[in-house]
Amino acid sequence: MPSYDLIVIGGGLVGGAIAWGAAAQGASVALLDEGDVAFRAARGNFGLVWVQSKGAGMPPYAHWTRRSAALWPDLAGRLATSTGVDVALEQPGGLAFCLSDQEFETRAATIQRMHNESGDIGTRMLDRTEVRAMVAGLGDRVVGAAFCPIDGHASPLFLLRGLHAGLHALHADYLPGRHVDRIDAAPHSFTVHVGPERFTTGKLVIAAGLGSRDLAPLVGLSMPVKPLQGQILVTERLAPFLHYATHVMRQTAEGTVMLGDSQEDVGFDVTTRVAVLRKIADRNMQVFPALKDAAIVRMWAALRVMSPDGFPIYEQSQRFPGAFSATCHSGVTLAGAHALALAPAILAGALPEDLAAFSAARFAPAASG
Ligand SMILES: Cc1cc2nc3c(=O)[nH]c(=O)nc-3n(C[C@H](O)[C@H](O)[C@H](O)COP(=O)(O)OP(=O)(O)OC[C@H]3O[C@@H](n4cnc5c(N)ncnc54)[C@H](O)[C@@H]3O)c2cc1C
Repeated sequence: MPSYDLIVIGGGLVGGAIAWGAAAQGASVALLDEGDVAFRAARGNFGLVWVQSKGAGMPPYAHWTRRSAALWPDLAGRLATSTGVDVALEQPGGLAFCLSDQEFETRAATIQRMHNESGDIGTRMLDRTEVRAMVAGLGDRVVGAAFCPIDGHASPLFLLRGLHAGLHALHADYLPGRHVDRIDAAPHSFTVHVGPERFTTGKLVIAAGLGSRDLAPLVGLSMPVKPLQGQILVTERLAPFLHYATHVMRQTAEGTVMLGDSQEDVGFDVTTRVAVLRKIADRNMQVFPALKDAAIVRMWAALRVMSPDGFPIYEQSQRFPGAFSATCHSGVTLAGAHALALAPAILAGALPEDLAAFSAARFAPAASG
């Protein structure tokens, strides 16, 4: 029976980053992934490495996000060196455009709140004139924007590919087409079942996205995640015009412009709807009127992995030490922290104190652990 230092269940961006980070520390690692039949947020997302609005009311999340953004260049560099995959990381700063005075005031209040709660990272509000000095071609409706100098973006698909290729380069086992259907658990000893196959490990991470909800209780954990649909449109390739990340629009390294993003509670439905797509297109054309001439070449819906309060869940099982939960709704943004901070902590056998706020005990204290 194959045996590993660490088995990670779920080969999306969260599981992939943790598995790669552990393998990079020298651990023997297997990444078990259900495959293309699953709902995969990692294959349908927007690609922002977004900091400015993350963690209002939850300072540990703000700090964790900022730490991840700082670790991202190291992750991208190491993946490029070891695999040749360029994940197209850029961190030029990010703009959140405001289309009314009310939007401007609401965003300014959020930025101020985050500044007071979690410290200054240089985020500031830009008025109508200032934002036009930074970005050409804005529509009349844009009254200003919030700008954060450490926001950025990357290609989420190249990131996923880079992590999987990185695992291969580190002689870790990426095992797709494996739906984990049973886990025999004892403290620091787990047997993972995939049909007739068995894998054993002393450390186990449940990072199976929306599949985590069913797997977590098998090792004494709670991951009450639910889907939240997001829809995205992609334009044809355009000449470079947008040199910043923005919260609802980004121009990729190839020139296409991704337009987002909706938030619909429609269960496990991944069909697109014209009304939602039209709303996304309308708002973005108000920001950049020239987009009305751009052809839309792709569109899709994908499911976010949402905890009840929208913040991550990281926890070690009290009943079965050695088993950990890991889920979040910003797996691109947090990839740096997952690979280079969370994975080493899991290998060392304990989560750091600054991750205590992410225990699922905050939802149902009696059900956790
Ligand atoms: C529309 C949209 C836009 C987004 N934009 C951004 C963004 O701009 N920036 C950002 O940081 N994040 C963004 N996200 C979120 C990001 O995509 C997710 O945080 C991330 O992909 C979650 O990764 P995951 O690994 O938890 O889940 P997933 O990618 O869903 O992967 C889970 C994996 O677990 C596997 N699995 C499930 N059950 C089992 C089982 N029983 N056995 C084995 N394997 C199993 C599945 O096969 C799947 O591959 C966006 C998401 C969406 C939907």
